[in-house]
Amino acid sequence: MPDLLDLDRPALLEFVESLGQPSYRGKQIWRQMYQRGVIDPSAMTDLPAELRGNLADAGSTPTDPVEVQTSADGSTSKALLRLSDGELIETVLIRSKPRDTVCLSSQAGCAMGCVFCATGLQGLRRQLTAGEIMRQAILARSWSRDEGRELTHVVFMGMGEPLANYANVSEAIARLTDPDGFAMSPRRITVSTVGIPQNVRRLANDHPHVNLAVSLHAPDPALRRELVPVAGASVDEILDAVRDHSRQTSGRVTFEYVLLRGVNDSRGHARRLANRIRGLRAHVNLIPLNPSPGVVGERPSRRATLGFQQTLQESGVPTTIRVEQGRDISAACGQLRGDRIRSKK
Ligand code: SF4
Repeated sequence: MPDLLDLDRPALLEFVESLGQPSYRGKQIWRQMYQRGVIDPSAMTDLPAELRGNLADAGSTPTDPVEVQTSADGSTSKALLRLSDGELIETVLIRSKPRDTVCLSSQAGCAMGCVFCATGLQGLRRQLTAGEIMRQAILARSWSRDEGRELTHVVFMGMGEPLANYANVSEAIARLTDPDGFAMSPRRITVSTVGIPQNVRRLANDHPHVNLAVSLHAPDPALRRELVPVAGASVDEILDAVRDHSRQTSGRVTFEYVLLRGVNDSRGHARRLANRIRGLRAHVNLIPLNPSPGVVGERPSRRATLGFQQTLQESGVPTTIRVEQGRDISAACGQLRGDRIRSKK
């Protein structure tokens, strides 16, 4: 029996018909899962009892997190979820009025090997299915609703490189934006990538209204290779793809830039970054490194961070420093999973 979340809409309708049911029952199940967040068929009370019985094994993937950490100020909750094969992934809910944002994982682990990232240390375990990605979104929305709010934004910034799992991430975006599904505006969804050029272009084509964030971290090719060693494309190739994306979507791109003390945080780096992205409708989001055990890099000084921002702004590049929430929990990507694996060992 398939897990219902692992079926796309046509496959779900076909599956329901194979059980001798009319296809509108499939539409009911779809709405239950993606509008109401009910993934246990026995709780889909608008279905006939016989069908609920037939589906008893089809929604069995447990949704309860293995562990949840919430920051002292209550702004951030991080859940560790166990997948059906035992893999662990993280999902983060960030509450910042009036927005509730979920940060979704797209892979178990990650192959990109960013030297400052706890997930990168763990390597790639496997791709997540579209259903496993949606399970995280459904969970986060139910948290928000239980607290009397609504999930307003989705960012693919959790574990993994979303554009290295293009098919499943694309299908998840389709479900998130389906008016009969999660019904979220694509403008409230952001895909954050280290930059896989062909898939940046595919994203522009398939989901032109979804926001693009590119994790650049360095203006120079050699330094970028040091910081993001496995990403195959050069800075020039990535920026070419971003220009194509921008032309096709007329959208503004965000460049994410993790600042590491003494590595990429000088005013010279900022000037070279400004030159590189000149002419793009861009915004730079600076992220002072939040070091976690085992990763490379130290947190930059406040002075260097502000200096970097000022240099970019003087060059005409709108620049913000990420407001950090939840630093008192294992907030860096992959840290909670790493902690759990280490404690088991
Ligand atoms: S920062 Fe993102 S792309 Fe880099 S290793 Fe971590 S999860 Fe992968």
